[in-house]
Amino acid sequence: MSETRTELKELGEFGLIDHLTNGINHCQASTVLGIGDDAAAIDANGQLLLLSTDMLCEGVHFNLMYAPLKHLGYKAIVSNLSDIYAMNGTPTQVVVSLALSNRFSVEAVNELYAGMRKACDLYEVDLVGGDTTSSMAGLVINVAVTGLVNEADMVKRSGAKKGDLLVVSGDLGSAYMGLQILEREKEVFKAAPSAQPQFEGFDYMLERQLKPEARKDVIELLAQMEVKPSAMIDISDGLASEALHIAKQSKLSVKIYEDKLPIDPKTVETAQEFNLDATTIALSGGEDYELLFTISQEDYDKIKGNPSLTVIGYMDEEGIENSLITRSGQAIELTAQGWNHLA
Ligand code: ADP
Ligand code: MG
Repeated sequence: MSETRTELKELGEFGLIDHLTNGINHCQASTVLGIGDDAAAIDANGQLLLLSTDMLCEGVHFNLMYAPLKHLGYKAIVSNLSDIYAMNGTPTQVVVSLALSNRFSVEAVNELYAGMRKACDLYEVDLVGGDTTSSMAGLVINVAVTGLVNEADMVKRSGAKKGDLLVVSGDLGSAYMGLQILEREKEVFKAAPSAQPQFEGFDYMLERQLKPEARKDVIELLAQMEVKPSAMIDISDGLASEALHIAKQSKLSVKIYEDKLPIDPKTVETAQEFNLDATTIALSGGEDYELLFTISQEDYDKIKGNPSLTVIGYMDEEGIENSLITRSGQAIELTAQGWNHLA
């Protein structure tokens, strides 16, 4: 190591990944796709094996004061499956690694596993292994997932073409508002432990935060409609960040229309109550686990009118500013303010 010291935050999460992985070569002919997408792809005799992993750390990704362990287990699996669907693949197996402190009882870990088992049952994925170790500081959950996809069906982040439409599934921002509600009630509880939490009417936002689903149904829907996206990514960090990944990796720019953003009305109302801007939350909130993808204009008629899918913008040529077109028609630069974990 040299004498100079560079702080992690100077590079940020994506800068650090680029820095650490710059110039990594593959020596295996079976490595079809390496770092840089939602999953890696490995040739497995004609089909591609997809491989991805995600880590959840106590105090960073979840707070046990309000995240029930069962939901946390469920979310840990679902967030990984989402990365396989984002490659247009089918998840098949997971391995689960835990670092546990003696603060946890067997009953508590049982709850965590009940949630994991439930997600595996529902999405028809097999839990085939893992690792268990102790932790001095909080709970760490790492899940790795494998999946399968036919080579011709795989969708990368880099395949978008100029003029392609940008489409998002479901709605945006509710998971972030769910987190705001939980944080508010946590503060109220700290001040007055006898107070009853006010969760009424916020069910959808809380569910989106605590027990998200992966969009297996959207992958099936697209196959039924015979629409193969040209590029795809799942929304873990936030719409803006993910749209910029597609643009950068496809060597294009992106335009998003504010008035097209699908946001649940109750989420808009709650954002106002919290003095937050619903557009900002939809763009940067994160943890929606929706799919963001591009399709050619010829496919528009096939998806038009489907309640699960919204066209929110389009891909333009490289070199033009990535922008958000506001309701008043003004173009403002689109920047990623999502979850950059090191910022
Ligand atoms: P996602 O949000 O889909 O989980 P990330 O933003 O975490 O994706 O990661 C982007 C890409 O960088 C992925 O291909 C991932 O495998 C890779 N990556 C992330 N962290 C590391 C690391 N420490 N070493 C090598 N590759 C990494
Ligand atoms: Mg992803």
